[in-house]
Amino acid sequence: MEVRKGAIFWPEKWTDLHKIITTVLNFVWEHGIPERRQFLVYGVWLAIQAVLFKLAPGPVGKGLPIKYGLEKGRYLLYKYNGQFAFFATIVLAVISWHLDIFKITELARDFGKYQTLCNLYITGLIAIIHVGALITNKVERPSGSIIYDYFMGPMLNPHLFGFDIKFFHELRPGIMHWFFTTIGFAILQYQEKSLTTPMVLVCFYHLCFVNACYKGEQCVPMSMDIIYEKFGFMLCFLDLNTVPFIFPLQAYYLYVIEPFNHSLPVTALLLVTHLLAYWIFDTANSQKDYFRASHANHIPYGFPHLPWGKLTNPKYMTTASGKKLLLDGWWAYSRHMNYLGDMVMSWVWGLTCGVNSYFPFAYTTYLTPLLIHRERRDHNECKKKYGQDWDAYCQKVPYRLIPYVY
Ligand code: NDP
Repeated sequence: MEVRKGAIFWPEKWTDLHKIITTVLNFVWEHGIPERRQFLVYGVWLAIQAVLFKLAPGPVGKGLPIKYGLEKGRYLLYKYNGQFAFFATIVLAVISWHLDIFKITELARDFGKYQTLCNLYITGLIAIIHVGALITNKVERPSGSIIYDYFMGPMLNPHLFGFDIKFFHELRPGIMHWFFTTIGFAILQYQEKSLTTPMVLVCFYHLCFVNACYKGEQCVPMSMDIIYEKFGFMLCFLDLNTVPFIFPLQAYYLYVIEPFNHSLPVTALLLVTHLLAYWIFDTANSQKDYFRASHANHIPYGFPHLPWGKLTNPKYMTTASGKKLLLDGWWAYSRHMNYLGDMVMSWVWGLTCGVNSYFPFAYTTYLTPLLIHRERRDHNECKKKYGQDWDAYCQKVPYRLIPYVY
């Protein structure tokens, strides 16, 4: 049974179950059992991120009123210091490399070990929160099934001594872990083979996306994850497993295969398409955020500020609920240009690695159906919220995602 680099695991004989299972188990045994070093590194990593989350400077803003559960009607306060924490962590990573304390290449080299460790952490963390919620009688919207509540989460906003466990895990340890893993693979490629332009492009793409998460952090408390989803295994798994271990797969793939470069025109085409898609994604989100926020206490986007990120005197319609729907900027072309930009980026990330393997498209094939489905879900929610006003809005902006096509 041959396991080729970057190829899908495809046994010669499906009936040879014993061989399939032993191959997988041997692989996990060899590459997926964490050791003391990984426990130590991950513990220090969480501690550093928690300290930055709590103490780094940043503007503070109110979230939306809580709609469900025991704290219904209350507001939570959020400190937006993600970009500061991100840049500070980069500085710390450089210092620790030079002092030979920790090199980020470890994240790439021990990829499987960290993945197992993160799974243990997720499972344990949610178990502790669940037991805490059961003991203090604080399980919110219980389903009647303890397993389902563990999966979907026992509480909406678990806190420990004023520390917002959900908001912390939503953006901090997982997203930065992804970024440093990607850079780790690039450094390994540089050290062991030769640094290729596809790898440099992938690092740049991931940097753009990770930075975008922090520069627009103030949108997160308005998202479905914070407003509706309880903090359970599902959400935590997405934050701490899917993000740091699926999102860097293009870099992983480029590291394991034989190094290659695209021609200059192909490189330029990939880069320009990515920049365009990123610009649409970033500015569509910021146009809506600036429009929706009350300007008196609105927190501006972080660095960099892109042209057309903020509209002056945009066209809009007012719904019966009093809420306004933007009819200008990207929002005049389709009802989710932000999703379109995001999807196109994911395709460019995959294509940058060539078309010889499915592996670098794992992220693309996760994101594309997710966003198509999410758009439908959002449409149905908005239809419920705004009724006839939403129908009128859909007449004015008839396309769901791709202008003049879909
Ligand atoms: P949006 O930021 O598009 O938010 C949708 C909400 O915005 C609607 O429910 C409605 O809420 C409001 N809205 C819709 N149309 C208008 C309008 N014309 N004017 C003003 N408000 C409007 O969606 P998400 O929160 O799902 O996504 C945010 C970003 O995150 C996107 O860029 C997406 O691509 C990205 N994302 C990335 C994922 C990944 O894994 N890479 C996963 C999920 C999202 P209301 O009116 O109630 O305020």
